[in-house]
Order: sequence, then C-alpha cells, then structure tokens
Amino acid sequence: LSSERDLCIRCLRAKSVCLCEKIRPFRSTFTTVLLQHPKERKNSIGTARLTHLCIENSILIPGTEFDENVRVQDLLKDPANACVILYPGKDATQLPEEKGKLIESLGDRTLVVFVIDGTWELAKGMLRRSPKLRSLPTICFTPETPSRYRVRKQPAKHCLSTIEAVHVLTQMLDPKPEADILIRLFSEMVEQQVAFGFDQDGEPKKKFRNKS
Ligand SMILES: [Zn+2]
Repeated sequence: LSSERDLCIRCLRAKSVCLCEKIRPFRSTFTTVLLQHPKERKNSIGTARLTHLCIENSILIPGTEFDENVRVQDLLKDPANACVILYPGKDATQLPEEKGKLIESLGDRTLVVFVIDGTWELAKGMLRRSPKLRSLPTICFTPETPSRYRVRKQPAKHCLSTIEAVHVLTQMLDPKPEADILIRLFSEMVEQQVAFGFDQDGEPKKKFRNKS
C-alpha cells in the first residue's frame, strides 16, 4: 500500500490507513499474550498489533518458538498467573459452557491467555517448537458467527482473526462495552481493505467489472 517511510510507527500500518486516532484502550481482567509469528508482523492486514494497542494490559511477543523466550518463561513461572492457551482440542475447556469451572480453578491467580497470531499451519509449527506452551491447559470456543475477515480467507469458517478471537474471549470472560472497540476498528480495517481492491472472498477485484 505504501513505502516504508509512510508507515505509522505505532500501528506499523500505512499512514493512509492508520487507525491510531480511533483507538480507545481498555484494561481487561485477564492478561492477553499475543504470540506473533514474524510472517504476521509483515502482514498489513494482521490484527495482533491493533489488538495489543487496544488492550492496555496485553503483551505482544514476536517469535516462532517460545520455550527460550524470557518474557514467556517469566509469565509461566509466576505463581500469581494461571496460564492457558487458546487452542482447539478435545481436552480444551469449552467456553462459555465451562466458564464457571475455569474461573473456579483460578483461585487468587490472574488468568493469562496465550493467543497465537498466525495461520493454523504456522500455529501448529510454533507449538511444536514450544513444548512448554503445548503442555498448558487449553481453552477454546466455537464462534457463533463466521469471521468478518472477508479480506483474507480463513481456512474454515470457524476460524477467526486474532482481534475477533480476543473480542469473543473478552465477551465471554470480561464483558464490557469498551471492548467493542476491537470489533469497531476491525470492521473499519476490513472496509479499508475492500476499498483498496479486495472482494468479500479476499480475491483482488477484477478490473472493469462493475458489480455494484
Ligand atoms: Zn497508526
């Protein structure tokens, strides 16, 4: 969309599509840790950074394996934290059905949710290389609505973008109107991308084809 020097240094998006002025950060009762694959960092329509800018007490950690990552290991070692990872699986704690069980298991600890920002293929690889993360209890949910992420095809309709997934988590674990900023900014981002020439399936619009 733009050359390097036209990037906003805060959101790392082109200044022409920067949404920073609209960000209204909020605090969450749980800590969201966004594990970002470097491939996602370069993606102009990636959403981890925007999520991070919206949630004051979120943490964004880039990398491809995390068992040697000091920040990740500090979070895992801290006895004040109850760490879980958002990842599907038959043993995963299902939200919202098992929310009570999850909250009860916390005691006085703070819930820390690791969220992998990357495609399913990247996420699988990141977990394979991070056995300590892989051994964490998992939580998951089945989205009620398919992703609004029309720009970038999701491999299956139950997959959400990172910002949508964190929004759903917040609705289930710490519902508050401020959190809707996540979805408002995300919708704007999608609208921008559509305006920049992608159709609703994420394919570049064909020139000279007037569908409207
Ligand atoms: Zn910006």
